Amino acid sequence: MSHLKGISVPHRKNTAESAPVQMGAPTVAYYPTVQHIGAPAVPVVKAGDEVFVGTLIAEAGGFVSSPIYSGVSGKVKSVDGTLQPSGAFVPTVTVECDGLQTVDGSLAPPDVHDTESFIEALRRSGVVGLGGAGFPTAVKLGVKDLSKIEHIVINGAECEPYLTGDTRTMLDRAEEIGEGIELCRKYLGVSSFIIGIEKNKPGCIREMRSLAARHAGMRVTVLPSVYPQGAEKVLVYNTTKRMIKEGQLPIDQGVIVINVTTLASVARYIKTGMPLTEKCVTVAGGAVAKPQNVIAPIGTPVGEVFDFCGGFKSEPYKLLYGGPMMGIAIADKSAPVLKQTNGLIALTKDEAAVRPTTPCIRCGRCTNVCPLGLAPVAIAAANDATDMEALEKLKVNLCMECGCCSYVCPAKRPLVQQNKLAKASLRDWQNKKKEKETDKK
Ligand code: SF4
Ligand code: SF4
Repeated sequence: MSHLKGISVPHRKNTAESAPVQMGAPTVAYYPTVQHIGAPAVPVVKAGDEVFVGTLIAEAGGFVSSPIYSGVSGKVKSVDGTLQPSGAFVPTVTVECDGLQTVDGSLAPPDVHDTESFIEALRRSGVVGLGGAGFPTAVKLGVKDLSKIEHIVINGAECEPYLTGDTRTMLDRAEEIGEGIELCRKYLGVSSFIIGIEKNKPGCIREMRSLAARHAGMRVTVLPSVYPQGAEKVLVYNTTKRMIKEGQLPIDQGVIVINVTTLASVARYIKTGMPLTEKCVTVAGGAVAKPQNVIAPIGTPVGEVFDFCGGFKSEPYKLLYGGPMMGIAIADKSAPVLKQTNGLIALTKDEAAVRPTTPCIRCGRCTNVCPLGLAPVAIAAANDATDMEALEKLKVNLCMECGCCSYVCPAKRPLVQQNKLAKASLRDWQNKKKEKETDKK
């Protein structure tokens, strides 16, 4: 097998050609304390406090967590619980913006002189996996045994339709990517850097090859333009031929994967001391009047970002955080741009391809396309029968929710949605089983 399989999807990346446009301050900004994988951040401000761009508003709530900084200047209005798209109710800091975007005067580049101070700086940077995963970068790069890292794989495979933020990073921020590489070489002792880019991005391939000529040990691997080429397991195999086995992390195969915008953001923080306060977001979809990439302060309500892009030229049928394959529906336009937000997509009814679900015709396409070799149709049957042992055997827990199976299903079965529910039920069942076993001891 030369490559892990994937599917062809329409790219719709017409925003790739133009440089991102900077957006000013919104009227109000919202900072939910969960914008990363791990423990929620803990607010350190209260109503009435003055904040500036870069002011700490919530500190990391544990080892796997990340601090949150204000992307605006203004006054804290409240610290209350709000409902998130995930269904969780989390503390949220609301800031009334003054429109001045005054930068916090206390910001300064961190003192980085060895591995420990580098990782400590990353902890303070607020940088998390910006490709959408949101895993704290300090935890990912904070490998105890540095000799285990043989390659850093830089993820330039932006395979979700519509999204072009990482493409713009490769075109516009090559120097920062190079600085990120040199930081990892100096403080993590890594000497091999492989950037994976799909062949439908010739401009990025050119820029990165030119960068590779200036940085020892860096090489570009050109990948087929299929979805989900950017999924960690797929990318690691297709760039290094190392297979991450069940229960393993990439580091168990000697690899760390970092998104290209994340790496550039690490370099920016170390150089300037400005933590993560803004995000390049692709605003696109058939309902958007002026599709483009926008650099928006984190916390900006998505409605204000759509307004900045001229609003809607037709009534959107569906609003999404992220792309159409893995995105999450947005129910309320006051929901904010978060650290992991890489796209705001407004789909028309045609684009949303809403078609009635019909019975499974046993065509096997869903199984054929699954990059992980799972059997979605069997998982769906086990889920319908609430058969937890079967779900366990079918390894639904490994499903990365890429949506390939749903996309190819001629019967439009909601396979990925069923997998999400099945994963949650299985987790719950396994936890209860563990509790019972512990009680018996
Ligand atoms: S079963 Fe999961 S991993 Fe496999 S194609 Fe479907 S969503 Fe993707
Ligand atoms: S792709 Fe759809 S119709 Fe075909 S086997 Fe899978 S669930 Fe059934």
